[in-house]
Amino acid sequence: MFKKVISYTMIIIITLSLIGCSGKKEEIETQNGKLNVVVSFYAMEEFVKEIGKDKVNVYTIIPEGVEPHDFEPKAKDLRKLENADMLVLNGAGMEHWSKDVIKAVKNEKLKVIDTSQGVNLINISEENGDSSHIGSENTHENLGVDPHLWLGLTTAKIQSENIKNALVELDNANSKYYEENYVAFANELDNLYKDYKVKFDSIANKNFVTGHATFAYLCRDFNLNQISIEGVFAEGEPSPKKMKELTDLCKEKNIKTIFMESLVSPQVSETLAKEVDGKTATIYTLHSKEDNLSYLESMKSNLDIIYNSLK
Ligand SMILES: [Zn+2]
Repeated sequence: MFKKVISYTMIIIITLSLIGCSGKKEEIETQNGKLNVVVSFYAMEEFVKEIGKDKVNVYTIIPEGVEPHDFEPKAKDLRKLENADMLVLNGAGMEHWSKDVIKAVKNEKLKVIDTSQGVNLINISEENGDSSHIGSENTHENLGVDPHLWLGLTTAKIQSENIKNALVELDNANSKYYEENYVAFANELDNLYKDYKVKFDSIANKNFVTGHATFAYLCRDFNLNQISIEGVFAEGEPSPKKMKELTDLCKEKNIKTIFMESLVSPQVSETLAKEVDGKTATIYTLHSKEDNLSYLESMKSNLDIIYNSLK
């Protein structure tokens, strides 16, 4: 509640400060004839660039290396939105700030895209019903659904299609361009899915351990099971008791590779790997740009590393 009061105050202050700089608006708007698209975080940036390519300028609100679950947009982000054609959100509660920000931004032409439209969302309580969540309690404001859609290949395809439809609607003169880019990207997603579906179906071991519970959609795609150190919203390091439970579970299931995320307690992954006499390996969650890899490169690497750890 206290946090909410602060964020409303912040938005009022930002709104007041924006009144003073509205004179700059025209200049930015007529920049280069491309659509100005603002996205919330890295994975959305990748999807928009794959489909919009040369026809879009993309501005990403959540900076590189920043954990997005608890992020609040800054005054400069709201200024970008005042001059944008489109705001692309992951949806499913990932951008807890979006309602307040959209209300605060004075831009009647801004088209807001919730890319989770049409996705069969995974309920967090459903996930908590199994043993895969040994992380800390979920105290995050959320919609009761898992927001990590972009980490499933079939869900990423729906998100990309929603982006493509929005670009076509906004810039119909280039509809063929967006359609073609979408089809090319969707084909790559399909091929990756087909390749790994066969591979994962051929092995009996389905359990892997990661930093925070980000891979529910990927697990649904390939019938895998994630065991996570932290919960769905990267709430913080686990207690010694939870660590003991994780260690026992890894030993019981003979898990020797612990995946490590750059933004979520990498030291805990290392400690756990030592406890079970195993090793760590880097996994990409695309909350932020990592190792200069594209979406497809990161996902290919993830699938490969998960598959190799299960073989
Ligand atoms: Zn996350």
